[in-house]
This record gives sequence, C-alpha cells and structure tokens, in this order.
Amino acid sequence: MARYTGPDCKLCRREGMKLFLKGERCLTKKCAIERRPYPAGEAGQARRRKPSEYALQLREKQKVRRIYGVLENQFQRVFEAAERRPGMTGENLLQLLELRFDNVVYRLGFASSRDQARQLVNHGHFRVNGKKVNIPSMQLKPGDEISLAEGSDKKEFFQAGAAFGSQRAQTPQWLQIDPKAMVGRVLTVPQRSDVDALVTEQLIVEHYSR
Ligand code: SF4
Repeated sequence: MARYTGPDCKLCRREGMKLFLKGERCLTKKCAIERRPYPAGEAGQARRRKPSEYALQLREKQKVRRIYGVLENQFQRVFEAAERRPGMTGENLLQLLELRFDNVVYRLGFASSRDQARQLVNHGHFRVNGKKVNIPSMQLKPGDEISLAEGSDKKEFFQAGAAFGSQRAQTPQWLQIDPKAMVGRVLTVPQRSDVDALVTEQLIVEHYSR
C-alpha cells in the first residue's frame, strides 16, 4: 500500500485533533486545527449522526496509525506482535510503536516530527550501538545507544542544534539524551503513561477482534 502523500493537516482535521505531524508549525496559530477544527470538504461542517461503535474503533485505529506514520499492513503486523506478548494487547501495541527507531529519534529531539525522523533514518544519519541503521521500523530495546553517523554529526542541521531546539516537550523518562554529544539512550521500556497522545487503545483491540 502506498504511503499517504496528501496534506498532513487534512488528517488531523479528519480525526478532529492535533496529531502533531508537521513539527514546529503544529505549535503555532497556523495549525489548521486551530482555525478549522472540522473535516475538510463540504460535508465537513454538516451535522453528523452519532458514530457507530465500528466507526469509533476504526477512527481510533486510523488516528494511532497516522500519529506514528505506519502503513495499514505494517500496523496490523505490529498489532499481531502485541497480541503474542504477555500483558495487555493495547498497551503492548503502544509500547511497540514507541520503541520504533523513527519514533525514538523523534522523541529524543533529533527531529521535529516523526515524518522528519523517518527521513533522517532512511538517509542513514544514525547509528545504533555504533552500527549504521536505516530502518525506521526497527525495534529498539533498553540499553540501545543512538548516535549520529560519521559525517552527519558535522551537518549543519545537527550542528546548529536545530533538532534539539525543536523539542516539543521534555525527553520522556524512558529515554536519555546528551545534547552536547548528540547521543541518546533507551533506558527502559515505555510505560502507558509515557504515551502523550490521547489514545483509547482498547478501541483498537476491539477493532481487530471483530
Ligand atoms: Fe495537525 Fe500540525 Fe497541521 Fe495542526 S499544523 S493540523 S497539528 S499537522
């Protein structure tokens, strides 16, 4: 399935909330949700019927998929992996999504959005435990160290500290960053409370259990 290449803000408007897909712009008054908090198109402002249970479950799944920028079949595979793990499937799902390499790069502040993080990873700007890795979906684990690849550490984007300056929030407590050395580390697995997006993961579990 092809990756969505349309306007990011349209996705937020569809879900009726900020999904923080465009980095710094999401924090300004230019954010489309601030100005037009309803779906795009003529039907966007029309009065809506109460959504069915199925619609609610579907929307929650789509919302999380869009937040993490994961394609449908990839998302399903992550869900299946979450099911196989002991514990609550919904929480396992969020944990697996948080531990994706591109998400960790974003959460460490190397990029201002997950989309940008995915591009930086794809272009081979990072090493994991000293080895160059360019797979955004790779699962990281506690103890993993993320650093810039040789040459990338000299790039203006990283040198200017633009990446760390764009951090939306503090580094989550399951991660550690040394901004000077530009080295990050996964300290522990993220807990449910570490997920900052407003998500009802149980709806996703119900969606896939139909
Ligand atoms: Fe979503 Fe960011 Fe666009 Fe606002 S600016 S609608 S949060 S992508």
